[in-house]
Amino acid sequence: MESYSALRVIGEGSFGRAVLVKCKSTQETFVLKEIQLPKSKLESSRREAVLLSRMKHPNIVAFREAFQADGLLCIVMEYCSGGDLLQRILQQRATQFCTEDILRWFAQMCAATLHIHDQRVLHRDLKSKNIFLTDNGTIKLGDFGSACALNSPKSYARAYVGTPYYVAPEIWDNKPYNNKSDVWSLGCVLYELCTRRHPFQASSWRGLILKVCRGAYPPLPGHLPYELQHLVKQMFKTNPKDRPSVRTILTSQRVSRLLRAHL
Ligand code: ADP
Ligand code: MG
Repeated sequence: MESYSALRVIGEGSFGRAVLVKCKSTQETFVLKEIQLPKSKLESSRREAVLLSRMKHPNIVAFREAFQADGLLCIVMEYCSGGDLLQRILQQRATQFCTEDILRWFAQMCAATLHIHDQRVLHRDLKSKNIFLTDNGTIKLGDFGSACALNSPKSYARAYVGTPYYVAPEIWDNKPYNNKSDVWSLGCVLYELCTRRHPFQASSWRGLILKVCRGAYPPLPGHLPYELQHLVKQMFKTNPKDRPSVRTILTSQRVSRLLRAHL
């Protein structure tokens, strides 16, 4: 704790706070996520630090160190000064994002998720608020607070706590969370980038769950490339077996053609 001086609080959540800090010796800025540690939460909080420390990828928030101090678990990581993608979407008032931006961000989100899945880890809370941007507009996937390793026996037993708008139909159906459930959530973020709305919205939980389980969403605006519309449709297949994996998305000819045409 003594190695850093606090600059300002940049995020607050159920866990505690995310504080922008400066390293006293190097003057570099980082984010220090302070997680309050009731005994029941100790294991899951440590898991967040351990899983983040295993990820080394240009589109994933870089881990620096983790330590315990004053009843807090502190995770120090790279600072993404461009804020999160939700803020970016809300700032974008009148106009739509251009197709190039949507596809570049989407390709980077997929690259990050593929890296996670290749290590048999699931993120389980993919949403625009957990996807950060650097000052030069590069995507950095963050918040591993809900992530779990696929092989751990706990991964299926633990009650899933995601963010309702992004939760895949199989989860509402009490089936296990799997890599395709992350793909569903990525589809929700892609849709949000295209429309600045959630694909599945309703005034009640029941209404939301019904729409998700039917895979019923308003069509994308007609000016977007047909290939992008097709991709969203595939990612919102209600049966996870019919949904492509991130690897399939990234290696598909259709998506490569789409990216080549726009990036
Ligand atoms: P929570 O478990 O509360 O969702 P997060 O890790 O997502 O915790 O952090 C909460 C908020 O703090 C984020 O939505 C974001 O606005 C900010 N934040 C967290 N980490 C970073 C970071 N590395 N760079 C920039 N902002 C961050
Ligand atoms: Mg978060």
